[in-house]
Amino acid sequence: MKKPLTYIGAALLSLAMILSGCGSQTSPMADKQSSEVENLAVQQVIAAPVYKRVEVISSPEIAQQLLVEGNRRFTSGTPLSKDFSYTRRSDLMKNGQHPFAIIVSCSDSRVPPELLFDQALGDLFVVRVAGNVVTPVELGSIEYAVEHLKAPLVVVLGHEECGAVTAAVQGGETHGSIAAIIEKLKPAVNEARATGATGKELIEKSTDLNIQDALTDISRSPIVKEGMEAKQVKVIGMKYDLDEGLSNLIKD
Ligand SMILES: [Zn+2]
Repeated sequence: MKKPLTYIGAALLSLAMILSGCGSQTSPMADKQSSEVENLAVQQVIAAPVYKRVEVISSPEIAQQLLVEGNRRFTSGTPLSKDFSYTRRSDLMKNGQHPFAIIVSCSDSRVPPELLFDQALGDLFVVRVAGNVVTPVELGSIEYAVEHLKAPLVVVLGHEECGAVTAAVQGGETHGSIAAIIEKLKPAVNEARATGATGKELIEKSTDLNIQDALTDISRSPIVKEGMEAKQVKVIGMKYDLDEGLSNLIKD
């Protein structure tokens, strides 16, 4: 078992960059002002707590808790500093990655998993595709992370007001390979429509059912199923609220 790593904060790197200085062609007054700004920056950098976690996490429950806590920091506007230092990058190269969660999310630019779960390098194995659909290609990525990287948690992360789902609901003409995504979303849309839902309710119900469909697709994988039966892997659904910033559990 690997021992937990102590992260050297981004604070040290930033501090080194500040102390090394960026130029010497300024006046004494400018130097003084610059120095005061730098001192303030140093204090802020030193004061900022740095995100750290145990390197290897094998419990799905602990992994889920880390995501919930990270999302809480994100929504409250108190994300922690991240270690992007050479030391950390080098460590990830030498020791390999041990992500604790696989996130299957939409490509939507408003839903970046690392930010909204307040995680750092090496923490999340992310599969992003418009409409967070799971085809054999996405499933292959998930299986790789379960089987080879031993990530204990798989999250299908849908989101409010998804453009891909909305397009599938509206059913207009699609061009190029976009049709493949729309086709994959159709069963969820048809099921939602059968409930009598219309308008925004139909879009959100389709989104929820599409998350369920993705969970079903993932659970059919023999590799994932084996991990689930051994209670080493958990597959859950979450839905991200765009303006509130909350990732709510919708299927455990
Ligand atoms: Zn989307």
